[in-house]
Amino acid sequence: MIRFETLLEKVRSYSPEADLELLRRAYVFSALEHKGQVRHSGEPYLVHPLEVADFLADMKLDVVAVAAGLLHDVVEDTLTTPERIAELFGPEIAHVVEGVTKIGAIQFSSSEERQAENFRKMLLAMVDDIRVVLVKLADRLHNMRTLQHLPEERRIKIAQETRDIYAPIANRLGMSKVKNELEELSFKYLEPKAYESLRAKVEAKRKMADAVIHDLTRTIRAKLDEAQIPVVQLDGRIKRLYSIHLKLMRQKIDLERVYDFVALRIVTESVKDCYAALGIIHQTWSPVPGRIKDFIAMPRPNGYQSLHTSVISENGFPFEVQIRTEEMHRRAEEGIAAHWKYKEGRVGDHRDERYFQWMRQLLEVQQEVRDPQEFLQNLKIDLYPEEVYIFTPKGEVRSLQRGATPVDFAYMIHTDVGNQCVGARVNGKMVPLRTRLQNGDIVEIITQTGHKPSRDWLTFVVSSRARSKIKHILQGEERQRSIELGRRLFEKEARRFDLNPKTLLESEELSKFAAEYGAQKSDELLAHIGYGKLSPRTVLQKAVPAAQLKEKPADSAVVSVVKRVLRPGAASDKIKVRGTDDIMVFRAKCCNPIRGEKIVGYITRGKGVSVHAATCPNVLNLMFDPDRRIDVEWDTATSDQAPYTVRLTMHVEDRKGMLAEISAKVSDINTNITNMEAHTGDDQQARIDMTVEISDVKHLERVIKSIKGVHGVLGVERTARA
Ligand code: MN
Repeated sequence: MIRFETLLEKVRSYSPEADLELLRRAYVFSALEHKGQVRHSGEPYLVHPLEVADFLADMKLDVVAVAAGLLHDVVEDTLTTPERIAELFGPEIAHVVEGVTKIGAIQFSSSEERQAENFRKMLLAMVDDIRVVLVKLADRLHNMRTLQHLPEERRIKIAQETRDIYAPIANRLGMSKVKNELEELSFKYLEPKAYESLRAKVEAKRKMADAVIHDLTRTIRAKLDEAQIPVVQLDGRIKRLYSIHLKLMRQKIDLERVYDFVALRIVTESVKDCYAALGIIHQTWSPVPGRIKDFIAMPRPNGYQSLHTSVISENGFPFEVQIRTEEMHRRAEEGIAAHWKYKEGRVGDHRDERYFQWMRQLLEVQQEVRDPQEFLQNLKIDLYPEEVYIFTPKGEVRSLQRGATPVDFAYMIHTDVGNQCVGARVNGKMVPLRTRLQNGDIVEIITQTGHKPSRDWLTFVVSSRARSKIKHILQGEERQRSIELGRRLFEKEARRFDLNPKTLLESEELSKFAAEYGAQKSDELLAHIGYGKLSPRTVLQKAVPAAQLKEKPADSAVVSVVKRVLRPGAASDKIKVRGTDDIMVFRAKCCNPIRGEKIVGYITRGKGVSVHAATCPNVLNLMFDPDRRIDVEWDTATSDQAPYTVRLTMHVEDRKGMLAEISAKVSDINTNITNMEAHTGDDQQARIDMTVEISDVKHLERVIKSIKGVHGVLGVERTARA
């Protein structure tokens, strides 16, 4: 077990001004919180955060990261809250610890590559500080190193997740050392037999390989010295088991036939020396065609730079040589900020290009800035600002536009799911459909057969798919309603002249007119009437010349009552539309007309007839399309007098008993008050808002008159909306 003092010494060595006292407090706090807890290995739990912090210090990270390493498990495994961490160690450390806790809580359960890719992105999208990822990787590395203590089932789960998620993330961050170790350990636990057999075979060749490496390095050093190329580092090694394994699988061959499992590495002082060294190697041994790779001129997407070549030794033994500068070497091993966002294997789109630039800038910063503190401050990130990643109930990860709602998600699954969506559960809780989804949310859509999308949805969906699907349905419905309305208006007009509407619609004259008008079928013609684009009379006259039209005596006209009201829950208004029954009528919200008032109707585009008070200011604006105006009147024949809700606003002198007096007066004339509120101003005046139930316009006039009779009332107004 490493000692805390050793860790402090390590941090001091690369960051002399570091706040070591803070680290000491973090250590003591972590020790207290984890007291009594043990790892599966039987060691005290504290060993784990200490190892994690030590690894972060190996990467020469700042005090915030190292302290977060010491504290990374206290929120998850003890009763400590993030607020407490913030209080004791400041918001930055708390933020990193919270980030690590958050991404540790999400579970990955699919082995599908596309899912893994989405999951990696989601994980990174949840991170706004790169140190969260670094602490998490250090955490995972130590857990992998001690994986043998866990039961087999958990070993496999963790190893799989490491191979699918964490090793690729380390790779994208250019941290090949971490990536290699994570891959090697995953291989060991996921394919124990293959691992063991390969290890034994490689072990059998080790002696021979070591001798070869020894000879080769000696030769290379001599040649480079002779050419006066400075050598910073020269070593050889047997390649990693996992990389040999992949090669065997790829080429479907046995180890006996894989010769270049030995790799040599030359670290020089400059790029010029790298190319010079490559020349020396190729002069000494024959290069294998097609194996020369110049990653200096063309770095890998994660920023990796090096020259690679494979050559064949005198005795026919092939081996690989990697040549790079010190800086490239350091970055290849630890390189934190490579342009990992750049998608492997394909040219990035516009957005990728932006990140690529961002990463490049980061690299430049890294080269210029020696102070790790300052460097890390440049690493505040929002990695995927346009996307949000969520889970389906089955645990699949889906990417949506930032700001997406459950409705967007529903339409992403299927048009029918979207159309019939009535509710959503996010992380097990019912939420409004307009809720903006967050990274990591588990989203479940509740559907109901036959349910239709609402116009309101258009105000919050963000995906164009959802938007166009909703519009499509709404337009279809409006069209259907317009056809219905058009049919009724036309039938009414026809009956007025004692004509059969059906015969008329099927007549040759009307089909001809329809065709001229660009309408294929009579339905379309009716839709035009329903939309208010054509008047029923115009259409009628196309079938029967105006001179031949004879109106029926008025008393035989069908006059009945409008039964249907469009808005559910509204009072059952009795409004006749020029003697036609069963037309969808609704009282306009803007003026909210009440029985007895002078009213006008207006054919809306697809929503039926709206009824306004004749004095409504909107009616003036309606005049621009007089064709769509339609006569309406209150039906006085009915005895069913459901009351209207009317809001009155009055300005009064601010005096005692005013409220009581007004309500008494109003109640005296048999009027129900449903709500009353007074607002006092600073000028000895007050405003009273009152909602009353009114049977008709005469009743309303009586109410207003009685209020005006109260001493101190300065004015009474009817407020537009109920
Ligand atoms: Mn941990």
